Amino acid sequence: MTDGELYARHRAVMPAWLALYYREPLELTHGAGRHVWDASGKRYLDFFGGILTTMTAHALPEVTEAVSAQAGRILHTSTLYLDRHMVELAERIAALSGIPDARVFFTTSGTEANDAALLLATTYRRSNQVLAMRNSYHGRSFSAVGVTGNSVWSPTSLSPLQTLYVHGGVRSRGPYAHLSDKDFTAACVADLTDVLGQTYGNVAALIAEPVQGVGGFTAPPDGLYAAFREVLAERGILWITDEVQTGWGRTGDHFWGWQAHAENGPPDLLTFAKGIGNGMSVGGVVARAEIMNCLEANSISTFGGSPVTMAAGLANLTYLLEHDLQGNARRVGGLLLERLRAAAAPLAVVREVRGRGLMLGVELVGRDGSPSPHAASLVLEHAREAGLLIGKGGREGNALRIAPPLSLTVEEAEEGADILEQALREAQYTIG
Ligand code: PLP
Repeated sequence: MTDGELYARHRAVMPAWLALYYREPLELTHGAGRHVWDASGKRYLDFFGGILTTMTAHALPEVTEAVSAQAGRILHTSTLYLDRHMVELAERIAALSGIPDARVFFTTSGTEANDAALLLATTYRRSNQVLAMRNSYHGRSFSAVGVTGNSVWSPTSLSPLQTLYVHGGVRSRGPYAHLSDKDFTAACVADLTDVLGQTYGNVAALIAEPVQGVGGFTAPPDGLYAAFREVLAERGILWITDEVQTGWGRTGDHFWGWQAHAENGPPDLLTFAKGIGNGMSVGGVVARAEIMNCLEANSISTFGGSPVTMAAGLANLTYLLEHDLQGNARRVGGLLLERLRAAAAPLAVVREVRGRGLMLGVELVGRDGSPSPHAASLVLEHAREAGLLIGKGGREGNALRIAPPLSLTVEEAEEGADILEQALREAQYTIG
């Protein structure tokens, strides 16, 4: 069966809104290290790490061996029974989270983790009012779309939550874009205070991505959420940090994204998913015990924390820490950022190259300087041709997203940067 035939069958049976990359979508059949192969045998350097899911490396022996050993013993039991991998992984995540007296609840996705965090925060605070950031993305459940601040990714307004959106997540555009970091922070705090001043009754929580992921890898100045924290704490409002994309050292300087905003203490709740399972479905929420235990009804997640995924998560986290992949993300990501900035400097099609660690965004514009999703698609197609997979996103779909496995080598970074440079030049040539 050709990719074209498979694509036709996919379209006939899957939802029309299910996103697919490329004019001629790809079927990927296997991977190793930072590379993947398609069904025809063509090899690609994977600069999107699956979708930030392959955190350490494709087919990492430590993880695949842990998975197959556990699969050979028992695939699933449910959280009604004890599981040593689950307990150990929870202990390690609790200790790493920075949240005092932390408890961990495992889910199967980032959406479900945010859903659980919102359930906890709204129950604890007895309020269904929440604050979220403009341009945010938190998943596709009924409550997660209700805190997603862009209608492109949040196609319904019928949320169980009352959401108040505030400024600050997008640094590069919007009414405060021209301000210095200090003035930007002050303006966003004033906006938050103004919104709260106009709101009747309790507000449960603020949910925010430290670096907006689907939003195009855009980060506020360091310290913004610490400044928010001061305002929130005065009113007892909880801070939920969504670390689905930013966790596990991806941003290089910090293990969690919130640590760039740590002056006024850690968040109250933290959600994670994507990379921890290296492709296995592991998500979860961490919260102080008094918040986690505010739910009174008995509950389980049938598949959350299932033994095979817990074994994968534990092996993956052990590898990440033992090989200092956060340090690698900082070093190799720093080199890649420099290379891409130098490549982009003469190209009008590139408005900005930004990011930290191995979470780099390249924002593209058309001849008139307006956001160009067309340019982003051109770059993706050219890069794919040349053997490089990258992501895209951003409010207008005009940002390239680069997020390779955290074990990326300097040589691979150079190779990917060469391909991207050429793809950007070709897009520049086509756009004019
Ligand atoms: N939160 C953030 C920041 C995300 O980027 C995503 C997915 O892209 C989610 C939540 C939802 O995670 P999942 O797709 O695993 O449900």
